[in-house]
Amino acid sequence: MSLLVVGSVAFDGIESPYGKVERALGGAATYFAVAASYFTHVNLVGIVGDDFSKEDAQIFRGRRIDTEGLERTAGKTFFWAGRYSENLNERVTLTTDLNVFATFKPKLPDKYRDSKYVFLANIAPDLQRDVLHQVKKRPAIVALDTMNYWIERTNAELRETLKHVDILMINDSETRQLSSEHNLLRAAKHIFKMGPSTLVVKRGEYGAMLVDKRGVFCVPAFPLEEPHDPTGAGDSFAGGFMGYLAGVGQKSDVALRRAMVYGSVMGSFTVEKFGLDRLRHLKRNQIHARARHFAKLTQFKL
Ligand code: AMP
Repeated sequence: MSLLVVGSVAFDGIESPYGKVERALGGAATYFAVAASYFTHVNLVGIVGDDFSKEDAQIFRGRRIDTEGLERTAGKTFFWAGRYSENLNERVTLTTDLNVFATFKPKLPDKYRDSKYVFLANIAPDLQRDVLHQVKKRPAIVALDTMNYWIERTNAELRETLKHVDILMINDSETRQLSSEHNLLRAAKHIFKMGPSTLVVKRGEYGAMLVDKRGVFCVPAFPLEEPHDPTGAGDSFAGGFMGYLAGVGQKSDVALRRAMVYGSVMGSFTVEKFGLDRLRHLKRNQIHARARHFAKLTQFKL
């Protein structure tokens, strides 16, 4: 089943206690597409500037990623820079330059318009909605990610977009900011009134939590001795999660739980190295081996 994603394709500046990179390939849709392509075919919608080289585009080659919807235009590619704290749990944004995204008017290639699974990765909420409205039939699952930048600057547009979303996937501070509730379960109830029927809260090294009307399901983060760079971990989580669901073509409770595990697996690989360096070189058997490791990690008898 094909999976459509719209979001940022970017260059990132990253500072972590483990090193500094001035300009690494990144972007929410890039991490998402690479992670999801290990599970299913991905249709990518986004825009890059003329500074995005053939070498940069290699990240999408040799994978199940269609880039007909990745526009190229004169100007600069989206740029983001951030700095992580000593324990990698907090990050400050130093720069967000929308560049070519500021005037982007997405036009879906015809073959993308039948997508059954849609992921609205982190980008301006009106762009997310514009892409969704070009899909012909109501998809089986529409999921959305966003961040403080959009919650603060484009709150009304975000709320409008959320009316059309099934699964909201955001981190804990964004959940609190969007719902004005500190407790995550109360926050979920608040968010259900905005449109989504499922909330997935990404909690960094504390794992992830899924809340829907059936209850709550939690997965841990994979314990790593040497995490290096959390950039893109959330998008890789989303790629593993949505890629798994689109790959199996299901949305049962069992499938959603497995998707949470595959999300956590993909996020854990991303933090092992800087940027996309780990995610881009994975083998499918390594992914499944880590998923089995998760089953062992969380197994117990009563
Ligand atoms: P994550 O660490 O999963 O939250 O995502 C990091 C990625 O999101 C980076 O590669 C950035 O290029 C991208 N990003 C950061 N800020 C924004 C923003 N305001 N809109 C879209 N993408 C962003």
